[in-house]
Amino acid sequence: MRLTVIGCAGSVPRPDSAASCYLVSAGGVELVLDLGNGALGPLAAAIDPINVSAVFITHLHPDHWADLSALCVLLRHGPVRRPPLPVYGPRGLAQRVAAANTGDPKADLSDVFTFVTLRPGAAVEVGDVRVTAAEVAHPAQAYGLRVQSGDRVLAYSGDSDECEALVALARDAHLALFEASFIDPAPQEPALPPGLHMTGTMAGRVARRAAAAALMLTHTVHWNAVSGAHDRELKAAASQFDGPISLAAPGLVVEV
Ligand SMILES: [Zn+2]
Ligand SMILES: [Zn+2]
Repeated sequence: MRLTVIGCAGSVPRPDSAASCYLVSAGGVELVLDLGNGALGPLAAAIDPINVSAVFITHLHPDHWADLSALCVLLRHGPVRRPPLPVYGPRGLAQRVAAANTGDPKADLSDVFTFVTLRPGAAVEVGDVRVTAAEVAHPAQAYGLRVQSGDRVLAYSGDSDECEALVALARDAHLALFEASFIDPAPQEPALPPGLHMTGTMAGRVARRAAAAALMLTHTVHWNAVSGAHDRELKAAASQFDGPISLAAPGLVVEV
């Protein structure tokens, strides 16, 4: 199973990265996990979007789905037709995309997309790849995704605070792709708001408790990249997790 980082910017696109988007390739199946702002362009550099097997959207914040509206235009008006693309996500996703594209949340996009509501714990099979969603700690309905091909497992946090659901989701994963949006506050600084995001320390702790083999930090935000704090986040994660730790970057390809 191969993971290609398409976009790894947290919350908003960065000058050097689209918002969240990952391509998972295994056994002829091409899965897109999230399709955030600006991701369709770099996705098209990695794969012809016509050949995507299915899209999984973790939650309804625009940095995780906004370019579904661009993909809608491409599939509807581009030169090549294909059967409707399965799009798995939280309840309400179809209405968001329809409203973004037509102004009418009830508009029919069934010529382009087949929307399927994710149900926590219920596995979705795409070819030989199995995707299981778990509700994680983030506003509204937000899911982490466990992607399994053969005996290889990728666990993607989506956006989440540290939580037990994420530990279970990532149990024995070969790669934990975890968000680390926040920087650990200094002792004199206010505590982080609960139920939103993780720091490198939290991501490392969850990866250790889940017995994951490797950790990749992602959803890193522009203002932290500018301040050079990502190095601190990697060190913070390493204070909790003994395995290999990497930082997601656009175009990065890893075998899981
Ligand atoms: Zn996000
Ligand atoms: Zn979010």
